[in-house]
Amino acid sequence: MYSITIRYYEELNDFLPPDRRKKEISFSFQGRRSIKDLIESMGVPHVEVDMILVNGLSVDFNYIVADMDRISVYPVFESMDISGVTRLRPSPLRNTKFVLDVHLRKLARTMRLLGFDVDYEDSRDDDLLADISEKENRILLTCDRQLLMRKIVTRGIIIRSRNPDRQIIEVIERLQLKSLISPFTRCIECNGLLTDVPAGSPEFESLKSRIPSGVFEWCTEYRICASCGRVYWSGSHYDKLKERVEIILSRIQ
Ligand SMILES: [Zn+2]
Repeated sequence: MYSITIRYYEELNDFLPPDRRKKEISFSFQGRRSIKDLIESMGVPHVEVDMILVNGLSVDFNYIVADMDRISVYPVFESMDISGVTRLRPSPLRNTKFVLDVHLRKLARTMRLLGFDVDYEDSRDDDLLADISEKENRILLTCDRQLLMRKIVTRGIIIRSRNPDRQIIEVIERLQLKSLISPFTRCIECNGLLTDVPAGSPEFESLKSRIPSGVFEWCTEYRICASCGRVYWSGSHYDKLKERVEIILSRIQ
């Protein structure tokens, strides 16, 4: 029988029942266990953890828990200097490419609107999502805790909010993405990069037939998606999107 105490910090407490939050928890178990298994057995996905201290020393996920250990578990650090301790990943968690699960369609489109590289399709199972995250080093965003507990997933966060307008703020704030926002640079439909097509240029002449005739009489700025060929111009729909971007930017802390 092993008896340990463990404490979770900051937002990792969201995964615990209320009576276990923000305090030392006494915990007993039998048999040899890695610290990764122990943490996940308490409901906290390992991808949300960035540092573990055991009796004051940093350890990795393979550490085998010993009797009487005092364990502190920290979330992804954004600003604190923890140089000199064991980070649990060779490179920072904050990679700027994403893959989103099938329930996050609106968030995926909003992230593309802001210029983020977002891989999203309507029908994908958990195996495929985990696979894409691993192979392409994409941060997996999901509402499904079980999905993030898979061993091959090393980059990911749980989206807490169910409200898409709140979700985008949540992602930007937690991963500190504000400085990377670059609106209207990606295709909302397919994630392709947009390139400028000035009115009157040879490229413009070739796509003119695909723009409503009323539009090219007044609009001089066009962008085309390099992947799917969709054409974007600054019409009334653009104004609505622009307003949406401004609202999001004003809400970010
Ligand atoms: Zn496209």
